[in-house]
Amino acid sequence: MQQTVFLNGRFLPIEEAYVPVLDRGFIFGDGVYEVIPVYSRHAFQLREHLIRLTQSLEGLRLENPYTVDQWQTLVLELIEKNSPDDQSIYLQVTRGPAPRDHAFPKHAVPTVFIMSNPLLTPPESQVKHGVSAISANDIRWDRCDIKAIALLPNVLLRQMAVDVGAVETILFRDGILTEGAASNIFAVDQGVLLAPPKDRHMLPGITYDLILELAEQLGIPVNIGYFEETRIRAADELWITSSTKEILAIVSLDQQPIGDGQPGPVFHQMYQAYQDYKNRVMRHG
Ligand code: PMP
Repeated sequence: MQQTVFLNGRFLPIEEAYVPVLDRGFIFGDGVYEVIPVYSRHAFQLREHLIRLTQSLEGLRLENPYTVDQWQTLVLELIEKNSPDDQSIYLQVTRGPAPRDHAFPKHAVPTVFIMSNPLLTPPESQVKHGVSAISANDIRWDRCDIKAIALLPNVLLRQMAVDVGAVETILFRDGILTEGAASNIFAVDQGVLLAPPKDRHMLPGITYDLILELAEQLGIPVNIGYFEETRIRAADELWITSSTKEILAIVSLDQQPIGDGQPGPVFHQMYQAYQDYKNRVMRHG
């Protein structure tokens, strides 16, 4: 199966896609990215992803190389050129190649790369039995709302989980829940859905917004706020959400059970609502 990618104005096989070593993405991690799930060839919440991309680019003071409509056309063309019906679109913009100097180059041309991979959703066993997580101090910078390609802290934090057979690392900044190394985190406490606010300490997840929308439809009360570690550890349920993980229940945190150590009733309700939404709306564009 040939994997076609888009690089700087051209569609080409991934094996032929190269960037210069002086690209600031390679040298400084100076760029931003997006991951967009595609169901039955329909890119889910494409506009929302492209708006978040624009905000990330603004955070880097990097001019958006395309309009939202141009991005849309490119992404849809790439979906057509790749064979799976369900895909994961990764797109990245860097400040481009330039002689190495921290300050912005005067005349760099941004590098634009888009690729498609088959969309892999979590295995049935993880949905049914839940997953385990560990916790760590949030050691990242103060602009976690920017979807920057410089992900070294996230890489190290996620690996800590993998090293002990856990699925995610839940982050606390000064004892307050922020998010996961690559996901957003929700808790359920006495029937109320708890979520951190969309501030500079977390990535505003597209799935996060959908979960809040579904909670409203389901009549689940929501409390957006700053939640202390002790309250999160004592919650009845904990969830992890992202475009590719969708929604999973965390049933143990640092080897201690969450609630009764099983995916809880609110999780089941939300999971069903998410799958219904996916099949009813996402698969039809
Ligand atoms: N937070 C972080 C740090 C992430 O990397 C991601 C995406 N992998 C998310 C949250 C979830 O965002 P989304 O729902 O848009 O996938």
